[in-house]
Amino acid sequence: MKRVTILGSTGSIGCQTVEIIKKHPKRFKVLGLSAHKNIDLLEEQLIELRPQIVAVLDKAAAMELKKRVEGKVRVLVGAEGLEELASLPESDLVVNAIVGSAGLDPTIAAIEADKELALANKESLVVGGEIVRGLVQKRGARVIPVDSEHSAIFQCLQGESPGDVVRLLLTGSGGPFRGKRLEELKDVAVEEALAHPRWKMGRKISIDSATLMNKGLEIIEAHFLFGIDYDRIEVVIHPQSIIHSMVEFRDGSIKAHLGWADMRIPIQYALSFPERLSSPLAGLDFSDLGQFTFEKPDLVNFPCLELALQAARNGRTYPAVLNAANEEAVAAFLDRRIPFILIPQIIGQTLDTHSPRNANDLSVLKEVERWARNRTKELIKRASEL
Ligand code: NDP
Repeated sequence: MKRVTILGSTGSIGCQTVEIIKKHPKRFKVLGLSAHKNIDLLEEQLIELRPQIVAVLDKAAAMELKKRVEGKVRVLVGAEGLEELASLPESDLVVNAIVGSAGLDPTIAAIEADKELALANKESLVVGGEIVRGLVQKRGARVIPVDSEHSAIFQCLQGESPGDVVRLLLTGSGGPFRGKRLEELKDVAVEEALAHPRWKMGRKISIDSATLMNKGLEIIEAHFLFGIDYDRIEVVIHPQSIIHSMVEFRDGSIKAHLGWADMRIPIQYALSFPERLSSPLAGLDFSDLGQFTFEKPDLVNFPCLELALQAARNGRTYPAVLNAANEEAVAAFLDRRIPFILIPQIIGQTLDTHSPRNANDLSVLKEVERWARNRTKELIKRASEL
């Protein structure tokens, strides 16, 4: 029986994690859950799953939940509460399904407490990759990726020697605007950008998929997870989203991981690793699938991917700035304060004015993130006043 803590249990990945755990009650027991402020859903989850502890980031929401569940469950509050939850002595596995760089401190807390970590929160690695990688090596921690592409690569690498890997091929669907030109994206509505053709996801990652920033974040995530240089990580657009990524080895063999575009598969694998449990879905029927196609990513009409590649190669605190600027710009687009095509422009302007620092000190990262968020907010304000 694995005892599991789910950080961000009320989100898209969090709810699917809960769904899988409910299907395997003899395998998993939930010890802890967390939310930002959606205490109605959190309350439903805690009635059903009976965890020992929950954490709520938002203080007012936490106080309200405390009143509702008095005596039934311990309610931790704020960022400190989240870190305490991530390092519960009794838990075996922590699923980090928080969105954004708010996931970094809980990632660090879980690794420092020697927990196995199922990591969906890619921003942890984009912002704090150097710190997280150092900690993983120091403590011999096991980090199992949840992101479908990284789960695919992780599975292709099982039983292989790192020295035999030539390159990683990260696949992507191309998002809802694949094939469109920048001019055609001027007036896209939030709803159109959220309507991903293959995956059903949370709002922030859906916009990242529409701008292709998600692929850029994934390159940085892959670099830190698998220790592969950036020039050996390639993006391939595969609109059918059946091949979830590939690894090429030095003898010319390429291993690919295939399956339905459904996050329950990689989530379940991360929960059960190193075992496999039966699939929540019917098998693939290749004769129904038709053709698989591949193309290069369009860096001209989707400049976010190019910005991410540059930030990755420039290293130091550039990826942290990229991430903070992206979070702010995406939030502004979702609030309808800026148009879609301003997302890359604003991120680019923030990156251009950044003076890089070493990224192996958490306090420096926090300072740089604060700067990047303030700078991006100023640019957004200016743009929305035009
Ligand atoms: P959602 O927005 O659906 O859910 C986010 C979760 O995090 C919610 O539980 C939310 O609580 C909580 N949360 C939000 N802000 C904070 C904060 N500042 N501090 C603490 N908790 C917070 O996100 P997704 O599930 O889509 O994504 C989660 C992570 O997984 C992201 O990093 C994403 O990139 C990655 N991922 C997601 C995929 C998907 O299919 N959704 C696929 C691959 C990777 P509340 O509900 O109260 O707001």
